[in-house]
Amino acid sequence: MKKLIKTKIFTSILVIISIIIVFTPTKVGTTADVRVPIILYHNITEDYNASEALVNITPAEFETHIITLIESGYNPIDFDEYYDFVTNGKVLPNKPVIITFDDGYLSNYTYAFPILKKHNVKATIFAVTDTIGRSEGVNFAHFTWEQAREMEASGIIDIESHSDSHANLGEMSINDVQREFRRSKYLIEKNLNKDCNVFAFPYGGYSSEVQELGIKAGYKVLSLVGDVGANSAGADLTALRRITIRGTDSPEDLINTIEINLDK
Ligand SMILES: [Zn+2]
Repeated sequence: MKKLIKTKIFTSILVIISIIIVFTPTKVGTTADVRVPIILYHNITEDYNASEALVNITPAEFETHIITLIESGYNPIDFDEYYDFVTNGKVLPNKPVIITFDDGYLSNYTYAFPILKKHNVKATIFAVTDTIGRSEGVNFAHFTWEQAREMEASGIIDIESHSDSHANLGEMSINDVQREFRRSKYLIEKNLNKDCNVFAFPYGGYSSEVQELGIKAGYKVLSLVGDVGANSAGADLTALRRITIRGTDSPEDLINTIEINLDK
């Protein structure tokens, strides 16, 4: 009888140890070594023209990018997790990456959302609130608030602000900058019933005054555009770096671009 109890206790301990091992995230050296690349896409279209590779990628190529990221060991995280890492030392998974889209195109809902759901990969869409639901007078159609709610409800997509009118904040009056920050935040919070804490500067336009106004408006994280490196635990949360991915980038180019930026 005693032997049986001992065996049971031993088995339970083994099970507990296995559970701990399986659910403990892999640490990447110390927090100081961790660099988080943020990659940026815009529109996804079958009607692909390489001259517009900065804003367009085909659905098939986009899915190949996502599969390659996963197969290369990258773990997509969201801005909440990154913020927690910077402010509270939260341990991130091995090879973290943040996937973002700018502008709020309908194609993000039509093509990217099903692909991301299929592979259970998180992403953030920076939407321009004034053009939500618009298909006329814009370069590409934009998703509606209803579609935005459906994406948010999946837990896969986080919708944040890319301003209200997509103007360059670095060239506006203080009043107009405040309006862009406040109105877009208000509309996202009201329509999606969530906190809007992250802002991406249209055209990467900003100044120290603009950064200050963004924080005053209630944002926790402000992010840039361009091929400018990755983000450490000590990164400036009012100027996070993002890497533009082009539609002409092969899966190998994607991984090389990320790796080059990890060292910048
Ligand atoms: Zn934009």
